[in-house]
Amino acid sequence: MSNFEKTKSMFHLPDGMIYLDGNSLGPLPKATPAHVGDMLTKEWGDLLITGWNKADWMGQPGRVGDRVGKLIGAPAGSVVMGDTLSIKVYQAVASALEMRPDRKIVLSDNGNFPTDLYMVDGLLRSLDNGHSLQLANPEDVEDALSEDIAVLMLTEVDYRTGRKHDMKVLTEKAHALGILVIWDLAHSAGAVEVDLAGCDADFAVGCTYKYLNGGPGAPAFIYVATKHADRVRPALSGWMGHDSPFAFDLDYKAGAGIERMRVGTPPVIALTALESSLDIWDMVSMTDVRAKSIELCDLFIAEVEKRCPQLTLNSPRDGTQRGSQVTFKFDEGYAAMQALIDHGVVGDFRAPNNMRFGFTPLYIDEGEVVAAVDILVDVIEQKLWDKPQYKQRSRVT
Ligand SMILES: *Cc1c(COP(=O)(O)O)cnc(C)c1O
Repeated sequence: MSNFEKTKSMFHLPDGMIYLDGNSLGPLPKATPAHVGDMLTKEWGDLLITGWNKADWMGQPGRVGDRVGKLIGAPAGSVVMGDTLSIKVYQAVASALEMRPDRKIVLSDNGNFPTDLYMVDGLLRSLDNGHSLQLANPEDVEDALSEDIAVLMLTEVDYRTGRKHDMKVLTEKAHALGILVIWDLAHSAGAVEVDLAGCDADFAVGCTYKYLNGGPGAPAFIYVATKHADRVRPALSGWMGHDSPFAFDLDYKAGAGIERMRVGTPPVIALTALESSLDIWDMVSMTDVRAKSIELCDLFIAEVEKRCPQLTLNSPRDGTQRGSQVTFKFDEGYAAMQALIDHGVVGDFRAPNNMRFGFTPLYIDEGEVVAAVDILVDVIEQKLWDKPQYKQRSRVT
C-alpha cells in the first residue's frame, strides 16, 4: 500500500496554502535542493568536464528515462529525456510521417493543447509535401479514422476538461487501418495508469514539470516502441543522437534505439532535480495513486455541486473517464480564481471560463479538498472576486 501521509511529508508545501495546481507545476520535493546542491558542488564543481564520464552525466537521459518509463508502462530502454515537450512532439510526428510516406494526413482533436497543433503545423510547412492536419471533435475521433490518415496524434487527458481518451481502443482501431499513433501524456504521466507497451502505442511524449514534480522547465520525455526504435529516422538529428558523437564524423548516423531521439547536450542540473522527485514516485504504485485521485476528485465534485450551485461541472462525472483534474465553468472564473488564490487555494484558469483544479494524492488529502471548498463557497457567495485587482489579467493564467 502506498503511504500518502509519508509522501506528503516529503514535499515543501507553503503554510496556509492548499495547492490544487500540481497538474500545471508540481511542488518542490524537500530533498531536491540538497540533491541538486550536491550535484553542483561535488560533480560540476569538483569533477568539471570529467563529470560526463565519472558521474555518467552522459547516461543520465536514458537512466532517468527508464525511471519515468516505469510510471507509463514503458520497458527499459524505450524512453529518453531531453528538450521540451513541444520539441518532442515535433520529433515524434516527423518520424511517424516518414514511416508512412504514402499518406499525407495527421489527425488530432480540437481539444488538444495548442502547442502540439502548432508544432505539427510548422513541421508540415517545412516538409512542403502536401501534408495536412485535420481536427475532429474529441468524441468523433474514432469515426474520423480512415486509411487516408498517416498519423493519429492525441493528448490522452484534455488539459481543460480532464476528459480522457481510451488509448487502447483508439490505438487498436488506428492500427487496424495502418495508422501510426502518438500519445501525448502531459496530463497522464503521474496522474493515471498508462500502459504504453500493453496498448502497443508507436510513440509517446510528455513533460515532467506537471504531475512528476521536476520543477519549472523540467525536461520532456519521448517513448518509441521497441519495434520501431532502430528504424525511425530522427528529424532533429543532433550530435547527441549520433551513433558515436565523439567520433566527430561529418556524416550523421543515428544512434542505437531510443538514444537517437536525443538532440543536444542534456540538461544535467534539471535532470538531477527530477531524480529527487522520482525517488518519491518509487515509493507508490500508480494503481493506488489513481484510485485515490478518483476519490479526491469525486469528493470535490460532490462538495462543489452541493454547496456552490453557481458553478457548472465541465469534466466527465465518471472518474474512469477523467484524468486527475476537475474543471468548473463560471462566467467570472478568472476573477474568482484570483480571489481564491488570494485566500489560499491555488488552482488556475483556462479560457474562456474554466476554473481548473488538480488533485494529486502524493500531497493532497480529503481534509484539504473540503477546506478548499469552504473557501470557494465564501469567494462565490460573498462575491469576493468582484474587485478590480482580480480582473486584471496576468501573462500566465
Ligand atoms: C503542458 C503541455 C505542453 C507544454 O509544452 P512545453 O513544450 O513543455 O511548453 C504541451 N502539450 C500538452 C498536451 C501539454 O499539456
